[in-house]
Amino acid sequence: HLSKRLTQVAAFVPQGARLADIGSDHAYLPAALALKGRIQFTVAGEVAKGPYDNMVKEITENGLTKTIIPRLANGLAAIRPTDKVDTVVIAGMGGALIADILEKGRAQLAGVKRLILQPNVGEYRLRQWLLKNSYQIMDERLIEEDDHIYEIIMAEPSVVPFTYSEYELMFGPFLLEKKGPIFKQKWQEYQQRQNGVLQQMAGAKQPPQAKISQLKKRLKMVEEAIQ
Ligand code: SAM
Repeated sequence: HLSKRLTQVAAFVPQGARLADIGSDHAYLPAALALKGRIQFTVAGEVAKGPYDNMVKEITENGLTKTIIPRLANGLAAIRPTDKVDTVVIAGMGGALIADILEKGRAQLAGVKRLILQPNVGEYRLRQWLLKNSYQIMDERLIEEDDHIYEIIMAEPSVVPFTYSEYELMFGPFLLEKKGPIFKQKWQEYQQRQNGVLQQMAGAKQPPQAKISQLKKRLKMVEEAIQ
């Protein structure tokens, strides 16, 4: 049984995909997809031994050793050319780490047609990487679960030129367009937190002016976005 967050990640995986799930931990996502007959083949990558052992256990217990191949590897190094992976999932990490994994593994992304990314924080950085590397965002979701709000970004290599505004990088082009109730909640919480940070900065003996003006600019963008 998948969490709400991973259910939405799974919903973006095309039927019959050749998947790589990087940082798979318990391999819950590929296991659920394989049991439903949704995927042909998956590489489940893990950099750490503990989570790798968890994956092996989950795969074996569910009789999925033919469909899910566990590999102990850093980032996209888990993917081999013969895997013919067309879909990559990286979920449950910071956006900066996800961008770093994508950047270091650009060679392995050559045949990949879809990226499904779920950054816990640092979405701006991640969207900046996508833009710079010509991956166009095709859809986005906001999911609320256990008092957390998660962003899920689905992107594909683009053949046509495109760009994103500062607003789209910060809020997400689809999320900004839709402005659903969770969007408001996410950014109102951001406002509250960052207003506190701003007050602390302003009250310091030597207020960090550059940081203050940058944060003020962001808060102004948030105010405009949620009004
Ligand atoms: N993807 C699962 C999910 O969304 O529920 C698990 C997320 S878990 C919080 C993050 C996992 O990513 C950890 O098991 C960690 O070992 C793994 N990880 C972190 N950096 C990695 C890297 N460079 N390559 C592969 N796995 C990595």
